[in-house]
Amino acid sequence: MNMNNKVILVVLDGLNNQVARDCMGYLNGLLEQQRATFYTVQSELPSMSRPLYECILTGVRPVDSGIVSNQIVRRSHHESIFSLATSQGKTTAAAAYHWVSELYNRAPYEPIRDRFTHDTDLNIQHGCFYHWDNYPDEALFLDAEHLRQTHQPDFLLIHPMNIDDTGHKFGLDSRQYRNSARHADIIVSHYIDTWLQDGYQLIITSDHGMNNDLSHGGILPEERDVPFVVIGDAFSHQECRIKQTDICGNVCQLLGIQHEKDVTQGLLAV
Ligand SMILES: [Zn+2]
Repeated sequence: MNMNNKVILVVLDGLNNQVARDCMGYLNGLLEQQRATFYTVQSELPSMSRPLYECILTGVRPVDSGIVSNQIVRRSHHESIFSLATSQGKTTAAAAYHWVSELYNRAPYEPIRDRFTHDTDLNIQHGCFYHWDNYPDEALFLDAEHLRQTHQPDFLLIHPMNIDDTGHKFGLDSRQYRNSARHADIIVSHYIDTWLQDGYQLIITSDHGMNNDLSHGGILPEERDVPFVVIGDAFSHQECRIKQTDICGNVCQLLGIQHEKDVTQGLLAV
């Protein structure tokens, strides 16, 4: 298959693997009809947000990238999906937490300058960034869809925060945390058909999971295991073992751009 696809990467922050399996009815409906395939990915370490945004978007582990904690506020030192795509003539967009703007566009984030970004010289050319942990997922998806319809990006990152935020308030084993995952599933269900009709390949995953101490960061399976759901005809939908460090390279393959990142054997259709 000639890989020259458009890609939407949805990173549902802090979504535990088993909660995704149990609570996301729409995604499970696609799985039952063989329109989607669910894999489990083990997050790299530490199982923290900013280190794993960098891992997902550059393929570089935190211990190698230097983005070792949420407190490291600087631009990435590595090629990312955004930098590789824009340098090869693709259009990029993101509706994401402001740390993503700091990693790939400008650090530190200045909301008056950066919240709405439109600059084709930046790695993320079209951005809507937020800095409130309780910014509604519903609004974030509307932001993303506005960027998509206005700019037709080849690569769009969608990164809502409500599941993680709820986990920090109530913990993994709580009705509130599970219900936030159910709510995200409902929001996603309103967009998937349109995205597929417009020719996008879809990946839905998370950076890290959640524990019962209202946190994450360590090596517990509930903190590390996250879902990785693929939808679209560019995927093989066959069994394979995906590493979090492969995600960047897999997206570059889908986009049909040159890169030197790791990829997952067997994930994509040939
Ligand atoms: Zn968190």
